[in-house]
Amino acid sequence: MLVPDTKENLAKCVCKSCSTYNECMKSNAEGLFCAKGKTGCTVEKKECVCVSCPIDTEYRLTARLDLMEKMILKLNTFYCETGPAGLKK
Ligand code: SF4
Ligand code: SF4
Repeated sequence: MLVPDTKENLAKCVCKSCSTYNECMKSNAEGLFCAKGKTGCTVEKKECVCVSCPIDTEYRLTARLDLMEKMILKLNTFYCETGPAGLKK
């Protein structure tokens, strides 16, 4: 696991400011999808603000990728839908 599933990391997660984050996720107090994996809620993709999250910087989720992976990630960041960071290839 790239990102440890901790309370401290959950507190840093900026999913709550994302327009894709919905009432279902909110009522389950979900977040930190890059560590915990996908939501059980329905995901209606609008945007993904993960690249501006301190967790992305701290664990180099984007920075560790090569150019092609970054282009793919741009389309697929949505960890709430695709599952934890580092597991999709
Ligand atoms: S990278 Fe995305 S899913 Fe992970 S903590 Fe940040 S906002 Fe949440
Ligand atoms: S993982 Fe990305 S798309 Fe999903 S709620 Fe968090 S910031 Fe938004």
